[in-house]
Amino acid sequence: MTLALSDKKARLISELRDEGIKDEGILSALAAIPREEFIPKVLRSQAYENAALPINSGQTISQPFVVAFMTEALGISKNHKILEVGTGSGYQSVVLAKLCRRLFTIERHLPLLNGAAQMFKKLNIFNVTTLFGNGMKGWPEQAPFDRIMVTAASEEIPDLLLQQLKVGGIMVIPIGPQGKTQHIIRITRRGDEFVEENLMPVKFVPLLPGIVHES
Ligand code: SAH
Repeated sequence: MTLALSDKKARLISELRDEGIKDEGILSALAAIPREEFIPKVLRSQAYENAALPINSGQTISQPFVVAFMTEALGISKNHKILEVGTGSGYQSVVLAKLCRRLFTIERHLPLLNGAAQMFKKLNIFNVTTLFGNGMKGWPEQAPFDRIMVTAASEEIPDLLLQQLKVGGIMVIPIGPQGKTQHIIRITRRGDEFVEENLMPVKFVPLLPGIVHES
């Protein structure tokens, strides 16, 4: 029997709960967002599988568990100003935008950024500002940020991003070489000190320099 998307979604949310996601705000956000609209039409039936899926420009929309886990690790409050590097489909952006005051999101592939911006409009999300650029440099004009989330893997923690984190701020980023196991790292800024925690092994597309105008 083929399950309706709404049933698959309910099943996914309970799976995320079983896998240890506890934050009801995050689970409600995932339950409210139509993931099927962020992926290519042909993959629609797979929208609520707990898996990463291909999007345009050779990129991927992260696995729902990883989206929920990274969001939970960030410890967001409604008054936070957040920077996201790697807008991609815009799915993770919408999760963040629903939980914070203002989201600034940067993407290096213009077609992806345009698609994501359309989705924000369609879903009546008005607290997101987008930038076409290299997010490794952060967004100095808008810094400092309460929280920073990077959704592409870097070999090293980008120093410019650390500098744009408020004291007491938190950054979550996948770190490690391409093709090998990377890890989600959580960095907390205490004064001028940065405390690192290794949270989970993952596999992400790479954080790359430069910008791409066409898909
Ligand atoms: N959060 C996204 C995941 C997208 S995959 C989603 O929910 O769909 C990671 C994204 O990071 C890709 O779109 C890739 O183009 C982007 N990216 C990689 N390096 C980047 C950089 N230096 N600046 C901005 N975006 C970058």
